[in-house]
Amino acid sequence: MLCKEARRTKIELSFGKRMYLVRLLVVGDTSVGKTSLLMRFNEGHFILTQKTTIGVDYKAKEIMIDNDSVKLQIWDTAGQERFRSMTSAFYNRAQGVIVTFDVTQYSSFMALETWVNDVKQNAPNGCAIMLCANKTDIPMDKWQVRKEEYMLFAHEHKFTLFEASASTGLNVNEMFTEIGRQVLSKNKSELSLQKQTNERDLVSFDEKISKSGSRKCCIIM
Ligand code: GDP
Ligand code: MG
Repeated sequence: MLCKEARRTKIELSFGKRMYLVRLLVVGDTSVGKTSLLMRFNEGHFILTQKTTIGVDYKAKEIMIDNDSVKLQIWDTAGQERFRSMTSAFYNRAQGVIVTFDVTQYSSFMALETWVNDVKQNAPNGCAIMLCANKTDIPMDKWQVRKEEYMLFAHEHKFTLFEASASTGLNVNEMFTEIGRQVLSKNKSELSLQKQTNERDLVSFDEKISKSGSRKCCIIM
């Protein structure tokens, strides 16, 4: 089990202002729109033909949640989900996970159970989980998943549900803000307060964990 310290990376603030760091993951079958959701949230735009494999593993964005400055660091798969080859290192520092499916692909909805099991087995206890029904901009006659079905799934698992569209931006900001809010309210006393001055520090910290496969405690002070 992951100890508290492993999730606590603490860097002195350059100007005394404090910021919460929240680590999130977006998971789900290939092509459900994970990378597009991230891009919409982070850069505010949508690319119709998103490349499957991306060179960057995460995107970070600073937002205000209620009166707190929060840096959401959102990790995306770089194509590993195709082969279901995501290692536990991918999950083990997550504080929130958005499990995504595509309303026009029934298979992606069927796969949710497996994704949720993966998250529950690999993510730390108490990790917030949300459900995202993506591509809701597509006309309903092309949907393969009925609204009642995914609403029931969310209800049974007690997941907050967002009907979203990376294409139009519907509910994208709301979804990332809400999961950040949930993580914050659960963990506020434990979360590191940090102003990220050097992104490379954090990347190399995470790389160390994933390369070694180690679950040892690591703190950057
Ligand atoms: P990923 O494999 O889960 O990262 O999915 P991508 O973000 O690469 O998206 C797969 C395809 O679905 C791309 O062609 C996107 O343009 C398209 N797509 C993603 N999100 C949406 C959406 O909300 N609406 C529509 N209409 N297309 C989307
Ligand atoms: Mg992708």
